[in-house]
Amino acid sequence: MLGQVEGETPVDDQVKKMSSKGTAKTKTHVAVIGAGAFGGWTALYLLRRGAQVTLLDAWGPGNSRASSGGETRVIRGTYGPNQPYTKMAARATQLWKENEQRWNLKLMHQTGVLWMVAAGDDQFERGSLPELREAGISYQEFSLRELAARWPQINLEGVHWGIYEPEGGHLTARIACQAVLDGFLAEGGEYKSLAVSSRNLDSGKWDSLLLSDGSRLSADQYIFACGPWLGRLFPETIGARVRPTRQEVFFFGCPAGDERFTDKKLPVWADHRDRFIYGIPGNQGRGFKVADDTRGPEFDPTSGDRTVTAEGLKNIRDYVAFRFPALKDAPLLESRVCQYENSPDNNFIIDRHPVHENVWLLGGGSGHGFKHGPALGEMMAGLVLERKNPDALFRLDRFRKMMN
Ligand SMILES: Cc1cc2nc3c(=O)[nH]c(=O)nc-3n(C[C@H](O)[C@H](O)[C@H](O)COP(=O)(O)OP(=O)(O)OC[C@H]3O[C@@H](n4cnc5c(N)ncnc54)[C@H](O)[C@@H]3O)c2cc1C
Repeated sequence: MLGQVEGETPVDDQVKKMSSKGTAKTKTHVAVIGAGAFGGWTALYLLRRGAQVTLLDAWGPGNSRASSGGETRVIRGTYGPNQPYTKMAARATQLWKENEQRWNLKLMHQTGVLWMVAAGDDQFERGSLPELREAGISYQEFSLRELAARWPQINLEGVHWGIYEPEGGHLTARIACQAVLDGFLAEGGEYKSLAVSSRNLDSGKWDSLLLSDGSRLSADQYIFACGPWLGRLFPETIGARVRPTRQEVFFFGCPAGDERFTDKKLPVWADHRDRFIYGIPGNQGRGFKVADDTRGPEFDPTSGDRTVTAEGLKNIRDYVAFRFPALKDAPLLESRVCQYENSPDNNFIIDRHPVHENVWLLGGGSGHGFKHGPALGEMMAGLVLERKNPDALFRLDRFRKMMN
């Protein structure tokens, strides 16, 4: 559980206190660096909690280099046993809905998520069920026969049973990041399309950030939500603990007039066997998205080549032909190379910098962070403004323990 540090007054309360002259003290000024899924939502919830917030991004929210770029992301609660992410996904779902209503926008498409479970070891899936129940996420268990009756367009060879989450589905990615920025600006936030160019943020004393236009930014608290770039900005504290890996994503064209592979007839799906492959039908007309979750080689998010490999395309084509035989000859419409920003244990990194008490490091989305954006943002606003400590699972000192 999150605990407040003893003897400290929540900053929110400090903000509300009046000075001896009777004038209100200025608000806590928080600088958030990075307007992706983690930083954007954090900036928004800090603002809603009464902070003054300056949000910065080098290339803009959901840009093509960012981990939050591209068309779509899966939202699901099936996460295995003993982890906090099922509950976080449930809270995030609620907040995605609330914000959609507030902005009158459609960002979450609850087309359902089908999790195909392989014959053999199904501890991950069995362990997910109590977590789903506890989090209040509705689901159905389907036998192989039920799966075949419901989705005859899938070749179910090697599948034993399935979990179906009717309220799961997909989120728009780039569009949602932009919507968060628009909401943030409409509610009074300040945004600068600039990069932090300070070096050596780990060591030495600094009390302001050097920005790419030569100006400086000074704030009471700093949150670095720089996705795959976090290790470069904090080489000692983070360094290789955020390892960007190259991930290829493919969009195939479905036969004209055939709805079997669109989100009208097929939910988001995940195929958990020796490899973990997933797909999102629909994608605003961009085709049938398929990707392999296996970690690719290390990747440079700034200048890495984003052309997919012939080998990656062949592997995914073979897979599609096997699992969705009617798409055997489907043309490749589009492809993308994105990167995961992996922490060593795939858990998020949420902690204060060990030297700079007013600097927070937020990242390590590890290929599953996007859906949690609003829940993380809400949690971060509480941690920063109420001076609480993050859960041990997210803290940096776990890495020291992992090495021992
Ligand atoms: C192919 C792929 C599929 C995925 N699928 C899913 C999924 O289905 N479901 C899911 O929940 N998650 C998924 N994820 C993971 C999820 O997208 C990421 O975990 C999440 O988007 C990470 O967000 P972030 O804000 O930490 O990083 P980013 O989105 O990378 O944001 C970091 C931002 O920091 C900015 N920045 C960096 N350095 C500086 C600097 N010096 N100054 C100013 N700004 C800077 C960048 O421009 C960038 O916009 C997937 C990721 C990929 C790549």
